Amino acid sequence: MPTYNTSPGTRDILAPESARWRAFQQVFADIVERAGFGHIIPPMFEDLGVFLRVGETTEIVTKEMYDFDDKGGRRIALRPEQTASVCRAFVEHRPVTPWKVWYAGPNFRYEKPQQGRYRQFDQVGVEVLGIDDPQLDAEVIALAVDFYRRLGLHGIRLSLNSLGDSGDRDRYATALRAHFTSHLDALSTESRATLERNPLRVLDSKRPEDAPLIAAAPRMADHLTDAAATHFAAVQSALRAAGVDFVIDDRLVRGLDYYRRTTFEFVATSLTAAHTAIGGGGRYDGLVADLGGPETPGIGFALGLDRTLLACDAEGVFAAPTSAVDAFIVDVTGGEQAAQLCTQLRAAGFGVDRAYDSRSMKSQMKVADRSGARVAIIIGEDEVAANTVTVRTMESGSQQLVSRGELVERLKTVLGR
Ligand code: ATP
Ligand code: MG
Repeated sequence: MPTYNTSPGTRDILAPESARWRAFQQVFADIVERAGFGHIIPPMFEDLGVFLRVGETTEIVTKEMYDFDDKGGRRIALRPEQTASVCRAFVEHRPVTPWKVWYAGPNFRYEKPQQGRYRQFDQVGVEVLGIDDPQLDAEVIALAVDFYRRLGLHGIRLSLNSLGDSGDRDRYATALRAHFTSHLDALSTESRATLERNPLRVLDSKRPEDAPLIAAAPRMADHLTDAAATHFAAVQSALRAAGVDFVIDDRLVRGLDYYRRTTFEFVATSLTAAHTAIGGGGRYDGLVADLGGPETPGIGFALGLDRTLLACDAEGVFAAPTSAVDAFIVDVTGGEQAAQLCTQLRAAGFGVDRAYDSRSMKSQMKVADRSGARVAIIIGEDEVAANTVTVRTMESGSQQLVSRGELVERLKTVLGR
């Protein structure tokens, strides 16, 4: 018989870690819904063309896309991110602006799997379409900062940059290309290949041999139009007014080609490996038009759940909530009593589990122990005859005989409800 394990870069998320994932999404939902964002659930696959909009030269498109022909001959891709899907939905449904949405769920990229880098990974994020106000940029960034704080994270660094408007970006790309081309010998082989595709991405190189050339490269700040520079200054003063700390990083270019103006990234200082970026976002004025809609400004962020939880591990915060049941029923009279009690106590709001197959008292108690329940409810022939149960507090081992009619109240007391 063949046996199967998960595909490379995918994982089963088991309890209690899965409860932690849910709690993560719940905390996020609480924060953004209180800020007026509506939940969007885009499909997990779409026409490949939706994602090609992110730019022909990005890594996602060139090598990370999970795309295939379906049985109807359509070119389909599993979504590598959700911003493009949100913009496609905007064009398809034409909601009134400002359109504020949040999402949570998995994305797919054909990456080289390693710690913190998976082929299926989860993100939570927001997008706002239709508003150009720099106040909004600051508010969106502050939402992410608030979320990290609610998780209990302290070691988060916010880097901020402006990529200018599309004309600025092109002029800057030309200046960068000229700079790197005139020092081609000093550039790593990888960066030379990157330069061909997209000179901005060379700034992303982590190779030590590229560092001096990158340090000497022209600066985006010197290529901003007045409008973009004014917008960027307003974002910064709104962030200061909101008490959000940030550092300007004029080497921050981010992965996707559709970003304009404000761009930002969150780095976890507690993580040491190469994947310290736990979230990022920015403006993508132009993407909606690229997808066939009207010129519409947009801004958003996506936060990586997987890596953020690694950062939580590193800081020892946001532990998995306990998913143990409250009570475990040990019934050595055949199991019908256990069935009745389960129904009654679950209806009364308790978490209740039981043993099966009429096992011995000893083996049922072992299962009760393993369940993590704080209380065992033991039913033997004597208890059935007297219409009672024995309530055993697992930690102390103390036992009390309780009449069936008083069980609910007694459980509340024992569990501190
Ligand atoms: P990186 O430079 O690390 O590849 P990216 O620029 O491709 O990141 P984005 O597309 O901006 O990442 O996605 C936002 C966040 O999603 C990242 O900051 C990261 O936390 C998370 N993320 C991206 N790709 C992966 C992956 N393959 N596995 C786990 N998390 C990921
Ligand atoms: Mg990437």
